[in-house]
Amino acid sequence: MITTRIPPSPTGHLHIGTVRTALFNYLFARHSKGRFVFRSEDTDKARSKIEFETEIIDGLQALGLTWDNNEEVIRQSERGEIYRRYLEQGIENGKLYLSQEESKQNPGETVEVVRLKNPNKEIVFNDLIRGEIAFDTTELGDLVVARSIDDALYHFTVVVDDNEMGVTHVLRGEDHISNTPRQILIQEALGFARPEYAHLPLILAPDRSKMSKRHGAVAVEEYLKEGFLPAAIINYLALLGWNPGTDQEIFTLAELVEQFDVVKVHKSGAVFDRQKFLWINKEHLNRLSNEEYLKLVEAALPDSIKSLSQYGTERLERLLPVMRERASTIGETADAAAAGEYDFAFAHPDVDPALLKWKKDPDTSVAATRLRAVSELLKDADFSSAESIKAAIWDYAEKEGRGEVLWPLRVALTGLERSPDPFTVAHIIGHEDSLHRIKNACDKIGE
Ligand code: GLU
Repeated sequence: MITTRIPPSPTGHLHIGTVRTALFNYLFARHSKGRFVFRSEDTDKARSKIEFETEIIDGLQALGLTWDNNEEVIRQSERGEIYRRYLEQGIENGKLYLSQEESKQNPGETVEVVRLKNPNKEIVFNDLIRGEIAFDTTELGDLVVARSIDDALYHFTVVVDDNEMGVTHVLRGEDHISNTPRQILIQEALGFARPEYAHLPLILAPDRSKMSKRHGAVAVEEYLKEGFLPAAIINYLALLGWNPGTDQEIFTLAELVEQFDVVKVHKSGAVFDRQKFLWINKEHLNRLSNEEYLKLVEAALPDSIKSLSQYGTERLERLLPVMRERASTIGETADAAAAGEYDFAFAHPDVDPALLKWKKDPDTSVAATRLRAVSELLKDADFSSAESIKAAIWDYAEKEGRGEVLWPLRVALTGLERSPDPFTVAHIIGHEDSLHRIKNACDKIGE
């Protein structure tokens, strides 16, 4: 059965590159009705941390990339006996040998390392993305595969684990290409079947260097905190190095499973494009119902807005279309709210009377006259939509001049130089509050 794997090293936060690799392995396995397995490559004792392992496992699963061996976490650090068994077997078969050598770490001390008897040949393997790759392994010499019989090195552990876990396809980053011939030598020494290989293009920054922290966030956690949706993260990462060859750019995970084909993965590096990522996120936000969107917004809004005296779900629901229109991430909405841009919906504005004056008017008294007229028109108006409010005022605004009427109205309702149009605002804050705010503004002009 087709079996792919994701074997992260828990030495840092969950990186977008790890998610992309996990995703391609997941898609390949699910598309072929095969298996997808996980293991933790925690052999670097100094740098591996259980917190990172937990973050990686939880993060991948939260993105929907679930694996089939989830009974218990397979950790290389707990598999010393298995590696030892294969080391002994290789020694018995004469493919590996023990060698007494001076320790590199502690000069003067003798250690007994395990080396592979290099057959000194060319290794040729077929990369599903890059085609045939040939490697003369002579220069590798007799590689050390274990520091001692109880301390197998990385390449050896990978080969043993892939074999034990039934891995048939290894899809991993291009940076591992030079590891592949070494690992094939070890496979052959142990008499294992060779899996298929596919080396994925690197994720590049816009300057085409390898994407790293200095180009912006690389940890998935940071994108989630910014308010990128899990579905959008998956969608965007799928397009880093792959596309189906059609115009479709927005995918659900299920659609990706259906359409993914590893041979369509590109050879050259995939440039990370934040603008495109934002666009994809907005497309996924657009597909949410108002109810779903509201939940996300409510969870993300800062206390500064939630503690305003008129804050409430009904107003928030009416404000929602404005928020949806303006933001590409929920985080942008939260930031705008924190900057006070939505306070007008939930608190009486502190109106600067000077701002009520339309630019062509000589002074603010004209604004007061017009606001009173608008107030009359709105008294019995239908507030069920921005459109119906507009209908109540429109003839008057046309007659007096739109700016002359709508500018002071908008400022009276929001106190802001820039905000949504006054009909939208009046609809959000409702009949009573609209009239109240208009009166307050007139009173200010009178003072
Ligand atoms: N542990 C390696 C890494 O995190 C993965 C090696 C592999 O895929 O073979 O880069």
